[in-house]
Amino acid sequence: MPEWEPVIGLEIHVQLKTHTKMFCGCESGFGGEPNTRTCPVCLAFPGALPVPNETAVEWTIKLGHALNCRIAERAVFHRKNYFYPDNPKGYQISQYDEPLCIAGSFVVPGPEGDTEVGIVRAHLEEDAAKTIHVGGETGRIVGSAHSNVDFNRGGTPLVEIVTQPDLRSADDAKRFLQLLRQTIVELGISDAEMEKGTLRADANVSVREVGEPGYRTRTELKNMNSFNHIARGIEAELRRQIETWESGGEVVQETLDYEVKSDTVTPRRRKEEADDYRYFPEPDLVPVEPEADVVERLRAEVPELPGLRIRRFEEQYELSYYDAEVLNGSAALAALYEQVALDGIDAKAASNVLMNDFVATGVDPAAVNGAELAKLIEARATIPRDTFTRALTESADPEFRAETYLADTLVADTAELEPLVERILANNPGQVAAYKGGKEGLLGFFVGQVMKETQGKADPKVVNDLLRKKLA
Ligand SMILES: [Zn+2]
Repeated sequence: MPEWEPVIGLEIHVQLKTHTKMFCGCESGFGGEPNTRTCPVCLAFPGALPVPNETAVEWTIKLGHALNCRIAERAVFHRKNYFYPDNPKGYQISQYDEPLCIAGSFVVPGPEGDTEVGIVRAHLEEDAAKTIHVGGETGRIVGSAHSNVDFNRGGTPLVEIVTQPDLRSADDAKRFLQLLRQTIVELGISDAEMEKGTLRADANVSVREVGEPGYRTRTELKNMNSFNHIARGIEAELRRQIETWESGGEVVQETLDYEVKSDTVTPRRRKEEADDYRYFPEPDLVPVEPEADVVERLRAEVPELPGLRIRRFEEQYELSYYDAEVLNGSAALAALYEQVALDGIDAKAASNVLMNDFVATGVDPAAVNGAELAKLIEARATIPRDTFTRALTESADPEFRAETYLADTLVADTAELEPLVERILANNPGQVAAYKGGKEGLLGFFVGQVMKETQGKADPKVVNDLLRKKLA
């Protein structure tokens, strides 16, 4: 059997969170009573004229910088013609052969090096309205009793990002999308939430034999609404294609849906060729020609990107890749880590506390005073475990001060602990004999007894030392 190599490219749609829609002044964004955020432009009344949203153009340029793209000096809106009830004009205003952002790359760091993914383009378009298929089990049009259309979403600014087919596994595709999502969120241009549909991704999938030049026929995989479903959908389609080729069949170009329940893909429709859309320049809009100083201003506004920040953390704080990645799970957590680490705390200790104890509390890292948290982490060996956990839970309180908790110190005084240790050993002669007979694991039992009696306030190190001495 030949060895197969997956070839995966992604098409990602991101709904921008501008206040208003792409070509009219209607309120944009998720929610609202159906069909309350509409006007003659986004409902396609005859004679209504589109006016581009400047913020949407600027945010797309910003994203283009983050994707290392060339920003076009001239980008043109085109009409993409097709009929569907969610598209009242009979065409979508999109960009075709002159998109705003071209030929970029996006680097996904990993434990075994970087994966660089080419970006073909990122262009701006308007979203379609939302069709809701009522009745029927799947929520799809097949089997439904009737369909409703909510035009609130119609005309929302949408960026489409198209990658090169540079991804070589389902897992790489998932990691690419997760990092892209975080980048978009940190740019502040979209919530990029898959559950809400503000981030959507389709995958172009094909396989070829290792070493084979060129590409084989690809299929387009749609309808995947979580990162895990995307990975599983791609896996299912790779399996299907390999089976098809190996059994002497041929993969045909088509659009497929991933069915989560059965973990299989099903055909949707034959893919239209670009010709079918009869693209032509939108006559109601002039080309977008961003001024050089605006392009440069937007470049300067791009913050440090999470992918680069992971690598910087590894180097600057001498962390493992895994630690650096977890700490960069959000910009706020990364910023809090840096406040704590720069306060002179041991970088590894600080990362352990943040990644394990702090994240488990669910506290918003953006609300925490890093200097106070640093004091708390510094002194964590001197306070009872419960107190430390309670302090972390309360660390987002504006009144949070480490010293409130540091007063609750551990009992480390040997003179105070010695009688207690002696009493516990006297009360458990059987265990003492067993320990002396070689069952050294019983040390933990004695430590536990001391902790119980002191309600967790005994310094474990002092207790350990005392016990070893007495049991010797
Ligand atoms: Zn409108």
